[in-house]
Amino acid sequence: METLIRKNIRDLVAYKVDAPQYEIVVNANESPYDFPMILKRQFTDEICNTDLNRYPEACFPELLKELRAYTGVPTDGIICGSGSDELIAMINQAFVNAGDVVVSHSPSFDMYNIWAKISDSKHIRVLDLPGHIPDVDGIIKAACDNHAKLLYICNPNNPTGYTFAKKDIIKILAAVPSLVVLDEAYIEFFGESDVDLLPHYPRLLILRTLSKAFGLAGIRCGYALGNKDIIDVLYKVKAPYNLNVLTQKLAVIALQNRDKVFKNLEEIKAEREKAMAVLKELPSLTVYPSGANFIYFETPYAEKIYETLLNRNILIKRFKETGSCPESIRFSIGKPKENQKILEIIKEVVYNEA
Ligand code: PMP
Repeated sequence: METLIRKNIRDLVAYKVDAPQYEIVVNANESPYDFPMILKRQFTDEICNTDLNRYPEACFPELLKELRAYTGVPTDGIICGSGSDELIAMINQAFVNAGDVVVSHSPSFDMYNIWAKISDSKHIRVLDLPGHIPDVDGIIKAACDNHAKLLYICNPNNPTGYTFAKKDIIKILAAVPSLVVLDEAYIEFFGESDVDLLPHYPRLLILRTLSKAFGLAGIRCGYALGNKDIIDVLYKVKAPYNLNVLTQKLAVIALQNRDKVFKNLEEIKAEREKAMAVLKELPSLTVYPSGANFIYFETPYAEKIYETLLNRNILIKRFKETGSCPESIRFSIGKPKENQKILEIIKEVVYNEA
């Protein structure tokens, strides 16, 4: 059996995790607020009037219309996936050959590396400069010197929360020969999308998702925005009915009711700033500014903080030390009471250990 498996797949670890069963779950940058009940009811009514024995729309025309209204991008420049994770898979299938070079800044979103492994490409990770500032010149050099096929920019970045200046994104786009995938999964928390660059840079592809600010991680809906020519290539590798009818319907309702869906955005951003101010006062923590719905900090007490929170039924994300990064913690902003509880426990651990 072993010899039947592609060599690059043998050592991969399958992503098999149970849904976390903790009192407070802030490890995956989800929204702490469920989708509004009034919209769930509207969805239920619509589903009662939908023939579920039929395949869904293969190319989700209603959803494309709503995404055009939301993003300003023409419908022929949009494609949807089962989460932006599926779009990352499709990009690799369509563009990356074994042995090609893929570049990203580092640390960043894990799936870029996992897909580099699956596609048997070579992933060059350009380490951040001190302060977790991405090394823009280093990224450009790595992409140009190695004729990189693909270059990922994550803005705001997961896990550091860093937000790129538009001029740096333009600098990269103007210099590299690669397809540039700009991952804007958290863009609604930052507010400064680079979607306006699409008409000027035919090799730019922007990834978005309804999993974060829309509070719909459960329905698995992501989308890519780009020049029609690139989007057409992605349609070639898209599975026939990749977005089920339930997802399509709920996504349309969400996009049509953004006032209701986004009503907690400002509170989440304000809570982020409040939490940041508290953490910055603590000894032995290096806290980084964040343009997303999470906070990232480095501390020698990461393991202790993680374990103590877990024992009190709270799940956060911990990153172990790597050659380039010290122990660190990332947690998404929860409801105000949850944030308060998390901060109190972090404070308690830090003062006990310091
Ligand atoms: N990009 C980034 C930067 C992310 O953090 C995530 C989710 N953690 C994704 C893409 C994938 O999101 P989804 O598949 O839920 O759309």
